[in-house]
This record gives sequence, structure tokens and C-alpha cells, in this order.
Amino acid sequence: MTMQTHKQLFAKAKRYIPGGVNSPVRAFQAVGGDPIFIEKAKGPYLYDAEGHKYIDYCGSWGPMILGHARKEVLSAVKAVMGRGTSFGVTTRLEIELAERIVKAVKSVEKVRLVSSGTEAVMTALRLARGATGRDKVIKFIGCYHGHVDHMLVQAGSGALTLGTPSSLGVPRDFTKHTLLLPYNDKAALPRAFAKYGDQIAAVIVEPVAGNMGVVVPEPAFLKKLRILCTKNKSVLIFDEVITGFRLAYGGVQKGLGIDADLTCLGKIIGGGFPIGACGGTASLMDCLAPQGKVYQAGTLSGNPVCVAAGIATLDLLKELKPYRELARNTAELCREIGVRLNGKGMSHTINQIGSMFTLFFGVEKVTDFGSAIKSNTARYGAYFGHMLHSGVYLPPSQFEANFLSTAHSERDLARTLKVIDAWDMGAA
Ligand SMILES: *Cc1c(COP(=O)(O)O)cnc(C)c1O
Repeated sequence: MTMQTHKQLFAKAKRYIPGGVNSPVRAFQAVGGDPIFIEKAKGPYLYDAEGHKYIDYCGSWGPMILGHARKEVLSAVKAVMGRGTSFGVTTRLEIELAERIVKAVKSVEKVRLVSSGTEAVMTALRLARGATGRDKVIKFIGCYHGHVDHMLVQAGSGALTLGTPSSLGVPRDFTKHTLLLPYNDKAALPRAFAKYGDQIAAVIVEPVAGNMGVVVPEPAFLKKLRILCTKNKSVLIFDEVITGFRLAYGGVQKGLGIDADLTCLGKIIGGGFPIGACGGTASLMDCLAPQGKVYQAGTLSGNPVCVAAGIATLDLLKELKPYRELARNTAELCREIGVRLNGKGMSHTINQIGSMFTLFFGVEKVTDFGSAIKSNTARYGAYFGHMLHSGVYLPPSQFEANFLSTAHSERDLARTLKVIDAWDMGAA
């Protein structure tokens, strides 16, 4: 087999796959250059089709908290696969994963498994609307909740704007019930509830935002949300597709001391396989068919292979209790990155919590989408390119989270810092 370059592979990919990719950010448009093609991965490393090795800080966008190809996860998957890969009938394994989730996330009494985070969000929103008989949903600007039609609404300039779709193919009628508010803005919340309170089915929020880059919530912001949702009988949905089992064993809501009514999970709970989950109070969850009148279904929901990978991942996380060490290592890495960039006289800020972080260039503080988009994306592109060519793979956009895994060793982190040392901004 002759080796094909990334350029050749991308040219061929574009012939058969729209844009050459199966998810848009993979095309590297936000950072420039041709995308790379991965052949295999192990631990903290990715290996590409041209024979390069990278320290990976993307972690498949979040799931790979134990690193790639972890042996316990692989053997669980192989054992289950040998007994068949899909039955379309309920299995014992599904109960086991559901039980683990319910025991780990206090506000979740029952959980339905689906095949992606997007589906988990679709399910939560339909459930909230079905249970309340209301239509409107509050979403925060810069939060991402999958490619659900009525969640694909762009940031407006006012404090409160009625959503207009940010994708073609989404009817205005679908998004007219989506109200947009700035993240972390306590004052905007009561205004929205005063105006629309008895029409608001749900408020959906990433309790730690990861999709405008990492943005940490002010505790008072989420508390206010909880109070207002309770008062107005609106459903509070925490989208923990990234944060679930990433910042603690369970949801980030545990540390915050705030219970959501519905919680969306994905990513880590599938251990690198397609999965999602929507869970919450029994009274809400029992509104789902077949018990209730809110319809939801899926041919591959609770797929045994995905579920087995999820169970193996959660069991390892429970056993290893890696969270404190991951947070310490990540904080240390961020501190060292900061020292180096300061040494180069490069203005920046780093938002970090647990094992997730984002380095924003050219801004001093990022607390919401408005401050995130002021960052210098051209500089990020240059930085990304330097890191990539020196063997460090970062998320290919300024507005994404970097993740550490338990597989990243001190040597990997030291190597990463060396690569930053060698960054010649003059060339940027
Ligand atoms: C990734 C993500 C989703 C969508 O999950 P998919 O599995 O890609 O459909 C939803 N919400 C958040 C917060 C995410 O990070």
C-alpha cells in the first residue's frame, strides 16, 4: 500500500463526502491549512496517515477522558461484540448503565439512552414542552446543544432577541420560540421571565460552557436560573454532554449544589462510541412513551457495544478517582503556558476548570460569547499550526475546549511546553 498524503486524502474525501468531512470543524476552516487524517490512537497520542505522532488535547471532543484505546474498555467491547452487536430488544447492560447514571447524578431518577448528544437534547426539549404544555425555550448565546433545529440560533446583539436560524433549512417558525440570552448575565434572566414567564417551557444551559471555548459560570447565575425556573414552573435542563463525568463522577451540578430537572449526557458515557442520554425526575421522565405521551424512539438506542464501552469507562473512573489529579495537572499546564506566553509578551487569557481549558489570544477576560469572539482567531490559527507541525494536536478552532486525559503523562505536558517555547511569533 502506498502512503497517501493528507492532501491526496482530502482531495479524495471531498469527491465523496461533502466538504470532505462528516462534521464541519474537522475541515480546519477555522485555523487554515488542510485537515489531517488519523490512522490510529493510543493513550494520549494520535498517529496520522503521513506517519506523524501528536499529543492529543482534543480527545475526540471530550469522550476520551481515559485516553485512546484503553485496554479495559476495548476488552469490554470485544466481549460484548462477540455475543452480537444489536438486538433491538432491551438488554441487562442497559439497566446497568442507567443504574450507574442514576446513582451518580443526584437529580436523575430515570434515564433514557439515545445515540448522540444531539438526540439527548431533542428528547429533553420535547419532554419539557410536552410536560409543561408551553413552547418557548431560553438558550444562552454561545452555548451549543447539538444540531437540533430550534437550537441553531445565532447570537443577537440585544439583551434579549428572538431567535433567527443560523443555518439554512431551519424554518423561522421552528426557532421563533427560542429566546436568546447572554451567558452569565444574571440581570437578563428576570427580565425574560417577567416578559414570557408563563410561556417558558425550559431553560437549557451548559452549566460549564465548553462550546464558545471554556467559560466558567458565576455561581449566582446558575442559582438564579434554578430559582426562576422553580418559580415559573419551567424545566431547567443542564446540558452536561461535555461536563458529565468530566469534572466529577456524575454531573457538574453535584459540585454546584444545584439540581437540574433534566440532564443531557453523551460523550464520556459512551467511552468513544456513539451515545447520549436524557435523564431527570421520575415525574418528568415518565412523560416519555410508552408510559407517557411524549414520543421518542431509536433503532440503536442502548446499543450493547456502546453501552459496554460506557460502563467500562464509568467503572474505571469510579475506581481511579482521577478528577483531583487531572485538575491539578491541567491547572499546572495552564499556569506554565501562561508564563511562556507572558514571556513572549503575548496578551491572552486561559479559562480552566478541572481537565478542560481554553487559551484565548488577545483578550484579558472571557465570561460570555461577546467577550469570547473578541479573541484573536488569526493568532490562534498560527498557534494551532505551530503546535500541529511540532506534534501537538489542539482543537482546530479557538472556540473549543482542550481536554486532558488520565493518559497524559508529565513528559507529555513538558513536551507540550517545550513546543510552546519554540513558537516564533514573528513567523505568526
Ligand atoms: C457535543 C455536544 C452536544 C452534541 O452531542 P453530539 O453527540 O455531537 O450530537 C450537545 N451539547 C453539548 C454541550 C456538546 O458539547
